[in-house]
Amino acid sequence: MRGRSFHIWTIGCQMNSADSESLARRLLAAGYTEDTLERADVAILNTCVVRQASEDRIYSKLHELKEWKTPERTIAVTGCVVAKEGEGLRQRFPHLDAVVPIGDYEPFVAALESRYDYSQGEPLPHAGRTGVSHYVRVIQGCDHNCTFCIVPRVRGREKHVPQGAVVAECRTAVADGAREVVLLGQNVDDYHDPDGRGGLAVLVREAERIPGLRRLRFMTSHPQDLEPELLEVMAGSDVVCRELQLPVQSGDDVVLKRMARGYQTRHYRAIVETARRLMPDIGLATDVIVGFPGETEAAYMNTRALVEEIEFDVVHIAMYSPRPGTFAATRMVDDVPHQEKLRRLNDLLALSREIAARKTARWVGREVEVLIEGRDELGRPFGRIRQGKRGVVVRGNEIKAGDLVNMRVMQSSAGQLLGMLSPTNSEPAA
Ligand code: SF4
Repeated sequence: MRGRSFHIWTIGCQMNSADSESLARRLLAAGYTEDTLERADVAILNTCVVRQASEDRIYSKLHELKEWKTPERTIAVTGCVVAKEGEGLRQRFPHLDAVVPIGDYEPFVAALESRYDYSQGEPLPHAGRTGVSHYVRVIQGCDHNCTFCIVPRVRGREKHVPQGAVVAECRTAVADGAREVVLLGQNVDDYHDPDGRGGLAVLVREAERIPGLRRLRFMTSHPQDLEPELLEVMAGSDVVCRELQLPVQSGDDVVLKRMARGYQTRHYRAIVETARRLMPDIGLATDVIVGFPGETEAAYMNTRALVEEIEFDVVHIAMYSPRPGTFAATRMVDDVPHQEKLRRLNDLLALSREIAARKTARWVGREVEVLIEGRDELGRPFGRIRQGKRGVVVRGNEIKAGDLVNMRVMQSSAGQLLGMLSPTNSEPAA
């Protein structure tokens, strides 16, 4: 009997990627191998319901899997759609075998083990999974109540992982070969150790001291909760990356109030000003929703002006769609016509792309440090610089994943930096 294999299909935020990573590790430890969907025995969909479009993709994927399913194969669903729909999914999709609550993987793995009995046959394949970056979840859930957001409903109130457990997980990941850890939370800035050892700034300080750890990132931040101390820790560290994922959602104070975001644009601007004073080259990414209920043309223009003024490196733009059960869906009128939402989306996309191209071009001629993650479709080593941009080394046959190399940027294209290995490499590439 050959070893059984699994395939995980993940959509949604980095929290979902972290959950998929942790489920994959558990399955690898149980003797499974990871494979393509075509060859796998177990297909797991890790889902997101933040937008209607994501939810639609899940249902269409489940329909597609009808063809794939055989009596020997297993289909499981986990992630936010499980929190939202529960066992009702199995009535809707009778070919679905298991509905797995977020993070509660042991009963599922145990059920698989009894289904695919390993007591006879070949020895288990080697377990273990190393990657250049390792995601560590530090908070689950969210205590905010943004009126458009379904996360508090599906992920519940915040649960904070003890500082010691986070640091221990980071240490293990580094011992297993990770060079970077990414601390994750829906609102990572609200992190505090349940035993009173401090917030995110303290945790970051503890984690960055781990020998062998070369980079540390965290996401996603919240303008209401980000402590100035955290920016100081970032500015003073060679390990903590100079990148902030700081969703603004709107550049209009009336809309922000209707969204219940808990801050005004003045406060957001002050954070950006402090961050740039301490780290002039910091990478800034944000999220914006266009067409939120009550967003007038003037309100949209305020958002546009803010995007233009701050010059973000990346703007993730979404058209508002009501999510069932949220305050906005039940108590507000979705009054911006679809065509108008689309127009605002395209307008903001064009503006943010133009800004991103201009900002990326400013790196040409500079020396950057790239943590190599793999090879692109042309076989060139690529990774990210400390400020979050993608960097591609044009000639670097000897470079491998996990190397930290210095690169002289020769040109920028499509949001990425292309360059040659610099003679000042602190760490030989190879
Ligand atoms: S901070 Fe707001 S948008 Fe972010 S997860 Fe919490 S409720 Fe949702």
